[in-house]
Amino acid sequence: MSRQTLTATPTAAGPGPGPAAPRMLTGDRPTGRLHLGHYVGSLANRVRLHKQYESFFIVADLHMLTTKNSGQDIAAVHRNATGMVLDSLAVGLDPAHSVFFLQSAVPEVAEINLLLSSLVTVPRLERIPSLKEMARDAGKQEMPFALLGYPVLQAADILAVKATAVPVGRDNAAHVEVAREIARRFNRRYRPVFPVPALIHGDVPSLPGTDGQAKMSKSLGNAIYLADPPQEVRRKVMRMYTDPARTGPGVPGTVEGNPVFAYHAAFNDRPAEVADLAERYRAGKVGDAEVKEKLADAINRFLAPIQERRAAFAADEGLVADLIVTGTERTRREVQRTVADMRDAMGLTAAFTEFQRHARRPHAPDVAPHAPDVAPDAPDVSDRCEVDQHRT
Ligand code: ATP
Ligand code: MG
Repeated sequence: MSRQTLTATPTAAGPGPGPAAPRMLTGDRPTGRLHLGHYVGSLANRVRLHKQYESFFIVADLHMLTTKNSGQDIAAVHRNATGMVLDSLAVGLDPAHSVFFLQSAVPEVAEINLLLSSLVTVPRLERIPSLKEMARDAGKQEMPFALLGYPVLQAADILAVKATAVPVGRDNAAHVEVAREIARRFNRRYRPVFPVPALIHGDVPSLPGTDGQAKMSKSLGNAIYLADPPQEVRRKVMRMYTDPARTGPGVPGTVEGNPVFAYHAAFNDRPAEVADLAERYRAGKVGDAEVKEKLADAINRFLAPIQERRAAFAADEGLVADLIVTGTERTRREVQRTVADMRDAMGLTAAFTEFQRHARRPHAPDVAPHAPDVAPDAPDVSDRCEVDQHRT
C-alpha cells in the first residue's frame, strides 16, 4: 500500500536524531485474545504498514498493571501474549519484518519512564479524557497513580526504541501527543536525543459490539474473536443486537447504525449481496434471520484463511517463544543504548563517575552506575537480606 492512503499529521517526524530507517512502534496489552474490533481498528493498518518500517510490536504487560494487576492477571500474560502474537501473524504480520517484545523484560523502559516523568505535569495528564474512561471502565473509584502516568509510560516505550512513527486510533492519539511533547522538551532541555514521533492516522472506524454498544470490547463481552470457531461465530451473530423497532420480517428496518449491517459492510466480500439485503431490509422484505445467516457465513469466510494460518503458526512449536525472546533481546540492546544516551545528555552519569574517580577504595570499572547486564552467576542479594533479618 502506498503511504498516500494515510493521512499523516501536519507535523511529521523530527527534528531530532533517529535511527537510520524509519521505525514504528505499536502494540497491545496482553489482556486477552484479539477480536474483529482490533482487526478493523489496528491490525489491518499494521499489516499494511509494517514492511515500510522497522516495526516493533510491544506486548505491554507493564501497561496492563495500570488497571489489571492481580496475580491471576499477571499469570495469564504468557498465554495471552502467545495468543496475541499468533493472531497478529495470522492476519498477516510477517515475522521476518516484526520485532515482538515483552515490555517487562526490558526493565530499562521503567527507568526511561521515570526520567521522562519530570517532563510533564499532572494537570496536563488529567486533561486526557481517555484516562478517566479507562479508570471508569476498569471499575476504579479513584484514578490509580500508574494509570495517570499511562501516557508517560507509553512515551517511554516509543522513545526507548527512538520510534519515528506510531499508528494511532481515536482513543490513543492524545497519548502520543504527550510523547511528542516530552520528546521535544527533553531535546530542548538537555540535548537532542529523540526523534519526535509522527502520528500515523489510519482510516479506523470503531467497530460496534454484538450487543449494539458503540465499541466491541473484551471486557464488555460483546466481541467476536479472530480465533472463534465457525459455530461460535454463528451463535454470536444469531444473537446480535439489531434494529429494536423491527418486530417482524415484514416491518421496514433501519440499516444505518445497525451493527449487523456495520459488520456486513466491514467483512462481507460480496457487495451485491449486502446491497440486496439492505434494500430488502429497508422495504421490510427480509427476515433478520436471513441477514444474520449471511453475515455469519461472510465472517466465517473472512476468518477461514486467518484461522488456517494461525493453526499453521501454532503447529510450529517454539516459534512464538523464539520470536518473543529474540525480539526482546534485540529491543533490550536498543533500549540500553537509549538509556545511556539519556543519562549522558542529562549529565546524570557525571556525578557518580566523579565520586568513583575520587573514591579512596579502588573500584571495579564494570560496576558503573549503568552496567548493561547483571552477571548471570551473581548471588541473589535479596535472599541474603532476608536471612540476615531473621537472624537479628
Ligand atoms: P479491554 O476490554 O481490556 O479494554 P478491548 O477489547 O477494548 O480490551 P483494547 O486493548 O482496549 O481492546 O484495544 C486496543 C486497541 O485496539 C485500541 O486502542 C483500538 O485501536 C483497537 N480497538 C479495540 N477495539 C476496537 C473496536 N471495537 N473498534 C476499533 N478499534 C478497536
Ligand atoms: Mg478497551
